[in-house]
Parts: sequence; C-alpha cells; structure tokens
Amino acid sequence: MATIISGKEVSAKVKEEVRAECDRLRQQGVTPGLAVIIVGDDPASRVYVNNKKKACAEVGFVSEEYALPAETPQEELLALVNTLNRRQDIHGILCQLPLPKHLDETAVIHAIDPKKDVDAFHPSNVGKIMIGDYDFLPCTPAGVMELIHAAGIEVSGKSCVVIGRSNIVGKPMAMLLLHENGTVTICHSKTRNLKEICLGADILVAAVGRPKFVKGDMVKEGAVVLDVGINRDENGKLCGDVDYAEVEPKASYITPVPGGVGPMTIAMLMKNTLSAAKMAAGLL
Ligand code: NAD
Repeated sequence: MATIISGKEVSAKVKEEVRAECDRLRQQGVTPGLAVIIVGDDPASRVYVNNKKKACAEVGFVSEEYALPAETPQEELLALVNTLNRRQDIHGILCQLPLPKHLDETAVIHAIDPKKDVDAFHPSNVGKIMIGDYDFLPCTPAGVMELIHAAGIEVSGKSCVVIGRSNIVGKPMAMLLLHENGTVTICHSKTRNLKEICLGADILVAAVGRPKFVKGDMVKEGAVVLDVGINRDENGKLCGDVDYAEVEPKASYITPVPGGVGPMTIAMLMKNTLSAAKMAAGLL
C-alpha cells in the first residue's frame, strides 16, 4: 500500500508560510499584488481564476481581476499587459490560458515583464530555469518538487520518467528533476516502448492529459508516482492521468487526484508572487 502525499496538506503549509512572510512584508509597507487576466468564458479557466483570487485573499495579497470579453482584440490585451507592467503596486501578472483562437498566446507571454511573470512562461525565465539560476519556477512542476521534498524522497541518482513534454509541465518538470541529480527520461506521444521505460522509473511523473492512462503494469513495485493530470472519467468524475486503483497497490508513494498536485500549483503561484514583491522592493 502506498503512502499518499497530500497536496491539500502541503499546499496549506506553503500558503501559511507565504501568509506569515506577507505579514512581515506589509509591516515594511509592501503588499504583494497579483493581476489576473481572463479572456472569454471558458468554465475551467473561470474556476482556476476564482481559486487564484481566493488564495490571494487567504495569504493577504491584493488581487485584481481583468475579465475581458472573448472578442477582445490583441492590441487591447497587450495594452492592458503594458499598463500592468508599469504599475508599482502590481508585482505579478498572469494571463489565464488558453486564450481564444484569434489571440496570440506567445505574444502575450512575451509582453509580460519577466520580473512580474509569476507563471514563469516568459522565454527569459524559461532560459533561467534551464541554467538553474532562476527567479521563479513554473508553478505546477515546482509544486511536484515541493511534494517530493515534503515526503522526504531523495531524487539524486534515481531513475525519473516524465510522461509529457509540454512547455508548462513536462519540459520544466524534467529540468527540475535533473537539477536535483535525477537521471531523467522524457516520454511523449511518439515514444516507443513507453511501458518498458515507465517500468524502469523510481520516480514517475504523469502529465499526459488522458484519464487513467498509467496502468498498474507500467509501474515498478515501490515506485513514487506523481499525477499531474486533471481529467474527467467516463462518469464525469475528476481523475488523474494515473489509474489510481491499479497503481496505488504497487507504488511506495502516490499523489491523489483531486487533492494532489492541483492545490500545489496555486500555492506555488502565491510563493512566486511573494518573491516578485520582495524583488521589486529590493528585499531579495
Ligand atoms: P499537453 O496536452 O500540453 O501535453 C500532453 C503531453 O502528453 C504531450 O507532450 C504529449 O506528447 C504527451 N502524450 C500525449 N499522448 C501520449 C501518449 N499516448 N503517450 C505518451 N505521451 C503522450 O498537456 P499539459 O498542459 O502538459 O497538461 C497535462 C495534464 O496535466 C492535463 O491533464 C492537464 O489538465 C494537467 N495539468 C494540471 C495542472 C495542475 O495544476 N495540476 C497544471 C497544468 C496541467
């Protein structure tokens, strides 16, 4: 039976630390401020944005929401980003993705001041992560690392397999494991022998976006399994990329969905916004 790594508990701890630090910062006259831009009415994006605003209130940040209509022109969105870039009371800016089809996501990511890029999607921040000398870590992979640390799992020398190579999760995830001296393999939709590669993993991270994709026969006895996926199963119930019922008996540690990586992403966003505010105040 696996030990469950609770993202609910670890994220509460992270947010508590951020809240305490925010109190200290406020005594020095700085209140961290996060601006969240949402374009259109994607229901999943709306839930994420609401959760981010709620977390800001919990830790004592100011948050501002910019809800723009789906048909907002590119120039208008970029003008908003530029205004927020110049605001001294706004330390973090994030634009909830995906954007409506007519908008250029890359241009928007590039427009955000890298010092306010609390999602760490700007190429300058991505490059810094590659080098290992960074201001911000991308929230979801950083959240996975926090769970690994909280469980006391040593990465150094371990065989780590990441399924998925997106810019947001898979690639930076692999980099963070590499920084901790894991021997990392990245698998993707064109990978041959996926099952064999996964069976060699001491630490397996699933970021595929397919419900219950990782089956019991793909996991080594005693492996640590971290499930990034947020999907709906055939009954419309929330589930991960890992077939929990099959994998849990084989794993030594596992993250559940919900209550695993999901809450960590927002907690790490709070941590990044705090860092941005401290950097702006010359305190970091
Ligand atoms: P994505 O669609 O951008 O990338 C999916 C990756 O999976 C791709 O690199 C693709 O090559 C790979 N893949 C697809 N089919 C495969 C197959 N048959 N075999 C091997 N690899 C395959 O998705 P993403 O943005 O990286 O997100 C992945 C999952 O994580 C989704 O379920 C998403 O909802 C979830 N997610 C969760 C959080 C969180 O906070 N927990 C944050 C971001 C994403």
